Amino acid sequence: MMKVIPTTDAIKAQIAEAQRAGKTIGFVPTMGALHEGHLALMRQAKRENDLLVVSIFVNPIQFNNMEDLKKYPRNIVQDSIMLESVGCDFLFAPDEQEMYPEPVTDQYEFGKLSEVMEGASRPGHFNGVAIVVRKLLEIVEPDKAYFGEKDFQQLAIIQQLVKNLLLPVEIVPCPIIREKDGLAMSSRNMRLTENERFNAPFIYQTLTKAVKLNTVLSPEELKKWITDKFKSRPEFKIDYVEIAEDEQLQTVTHWNDAKGVYIFIAVFLGNVRLIDNMRIF
Ligand code: AMP
Repeated sequence: MMKVIPTTDAIKAQIAEAQRAGKTIGFVPTMGALHEGHLALMRQAKRENDLLVVSIFVNPIQFNNMEDLKKYPRNIVQDSIMLESVGCDFLFAPDEQEMYPEPVTDQYEFGKLSEVMEGASRPGHFNGVAIVVRKLLEIVEPDKAYFGEKDFQQLAIIQQLVKNLLLPVEIVPCPIIREKDGLAMSSRNMRLTENERFNAPFIYQTLTKAVKLNTVLSPEELKKWITDKFKSRPEFKIDYVEIAEDEQLQTVTHWNDAKGVYIFIAVFLGNVRLIDNMRIF
């Protein structure tokens, strides 16, 4: 039976007890409105550790858009059922007062990694992510923490954070889980209208075609090809398209010496902002 724990003191006490019993802890931080993408991380965490700890906290300080925060889907009843189904042992579900009793002013520095893509489009976002993830990792003290490649740049930022602060945790990257029609699963998909949801797989379809074109197009040409595809579909508005390497996520200008190269994309479909990425090679 899963224990639902709203306070830091109580989760710390549970963790301490588990540690005394020599149990390993796998941790999956989330913002709730759970879907199969989240559950895949949790199943892996459960397989690889004695205990599974999940957190649900819609972190206000990582939202740069108040409308997005207000409309962020919340569904704790459905979430609890899904968590039970994957054998979650502890759900840490703090409120804002519990996480941030004092206003937070920490500033993290990730250099050029945080200046591109999501960092450029969403000022302050990764600082908010770093603050909450550090706090959660220090509270839960997991052996392993699981993050999805859906949020590729976030994963890179967290790996950097853990390295910089020498946090004693292994970060485990997990592949993107998609709907049958290719749309990357996301809590925000619930906010799409029926028509928008019908159109949304165009993102995946375009990326799937694009990754095959590196033999005939330069990175710059490929970027233009993708942009043009979206321009022919007025329901989409591109925020960015980037072709970048997978460490510092800097733009790739030649295929030659590049390895670990991805297409990264953020688009608006109506009011909903969707991100996706796909490896070229
Ligand atoms: P979120 O609740 O959106 O903050 O996501 C919590 C964790 O689940 C993050 O590590 C995400 O990268 C991961 N995640 C969300 N959607 C997916 C997906 N479709 N596939 C894999 N991981 C995902």
